[in-house]
Amino acid sequence: MLVALQGDQHITAWVAQKGPVFHCPNCKTQVILRKGALVAHNFAHKPPVTCSWASGETQAHLKAKLLLHDAFVAQGLSCSVEAEVLSGDGDRRADVLVWRPPGQLRIALEVQHTPLNFEQIDRRTRAYMSAGVPVVWLGLIKPEVLAGAEPLAGGLKITRYSVRPWEKWAHAYGMGELWFIDPVGGQFWRGVLHKHMIEVPSSSWYSSGGEEQSAGGYTRSSKRWRNLHVEGPYPPSAIGLKTFTRNTFSSRDFTVPGGRAAGFMVRAPKP
Ligand SMILES: [Zn+2]
Repeated sequence: MLVALQGDQHITAWVAQKGPVFHCPNCKTQVILRKGALVAHNFAHKPPVTCSWASGETQAHLKAKLLLHDAFVAQGLSCSVEAEVLSGDGDRRADVLVWRPPGQLRIALEVQHTPLNFEQIDRRTRAYMSAGVPVVWLGLIKPEVLAGAEPLAGGLKITRYSVRPWEKWAHAYGMGELWFIDPVGGQFWRGVLHKHMIEVPSSSWYSSGGEEQSAGGYTRSSKRWRNLHVEGPYPPSAIGLKTFTRNTFSSRDFTVPGGRAAGFMVRAPKP
């Protein structure tokens, strides 16, 4: 967690100094400020942890939030991390909220690091839409995944990528793209999912009546795997925000709501 309460004021872990008592803005229990040399400064709950805001947060997720915050602040935009957004369908807490003052459109950035099913990501996206805050869904990519990829013009190709349901959903929501953050390298990649074809080998045999039977000998697209092409890497200074209006889209597995959506774009040529 990057933000805690000091009294009734929100304070970020990179500004906070040890000494005062800090509380979680959600469950109101006391949290500990951790300022390590090698880790992203953060607030931690004391065990036993029951607060939903404390679950499953990793250093990669914390670093990604800081990277986004710093990238957009450097571009002159207003940013707050772990910002609560009021909506009709329950409150959402955006990883990063970006806006250009005063009072202009706010855009939520969500770095997804836990599994979400189609229904959950759909519901969260609609909650943001109903609050008038379009959301950008972003993935995390590990250095070892990048290291194992094949070079491709302008980027890399990751074959047999085990695509998660939320990634399929966010790729459709993003009109055929999904951006990834490499929190270790501090860079961004524009991802496009392609079908991964599987060869079904042909085989033949004789039935009990002596007739020759055969099967296979064709290719089909894998349900589990995709080939992920990533374009980049882009430094934080090259990433811009865009909004667009999209139509409702339905596939056999899920529906993506129509309305005002947001995404990343490349704002400067790759250096
Ligand atoms: Zn809490």
